[in-house]
Amino acid sequence: MGGIGSGRRASYCGKDATEDSMPLDIRRLHRAGALSPGRSVSWQWTVNDRVIASIRVHAQAGSVTLGYNYTPHGRPVEVISQTVWLETTLCALGGSRSWFTCPSCATRVGVIYGAGRLFACRGCKGLAYTSQGEAADDRAARRANRIRKRLGWPIGILNGPGLKPKGMHQRTYQRLLARQAAFVNVSLAGLAVKLGLLRGRVGDNDIDAVDPW
Ligand SMILES: [Zn+2]
Repeated sequence: MGGIGSGRRASYCGKDATEDSMPLDIRRLHRAGALSPGRSVSWQWTVNDRVIASIRVHAQAGSVTLGYNYTPHGRPVEVISQTVWLETTLCALGGSRSWFTCPSCATRVGVIYGAGRLFACRGCKGLAYTSQGEAADDRAARRANRIRKRLGWPIGILNGPGLKPKGMHQRTYQRLLARQAAFVNVSLAGLAVKLGLLRGRVGDNDIDAVDPW
């Protein structure tokens, strides 16, 4: 996604954007005044101050229309205009709260996610976590980092490989080197999917393929 003109801007911290696949939180939209009928704002996701995605949010009474360019890897750009219906509930202490109606399953949710072609709720997006409580690609990153720690390398899969630690057998080192690289690949593939660069998603099978022991 990308390519949006001027307008009110908002950004997320990197953690949300990379780990939760471009969440669009209706409370943030509300606080920014973006739900007032007739308003049209630019909404962005940033990682380390770099914009990784942006959409235009146009508010009508009872719905918002999300406009963006979707660019699947190796295919022509698709101009998307997706209408998401809103619901309002009354709060016990007065006032009201807005919700999205998931365009896919019609569940009332506070956050919809944009990884892939259209926005939908977490469940519809297949963003359910593994039994260990984290997405498969996040788990791969964590396992890569565990190996990096053992090798005495800086934590962080984007740091690249380091040197063989003193006293470690060459065979052990080669094995850890290969596993670290494989986990990094799984993790980066998951990140690419979340950013809409690839279709499909990283599943536990990918990790099993890396980790036969
Ligand atoms: Zn849904």
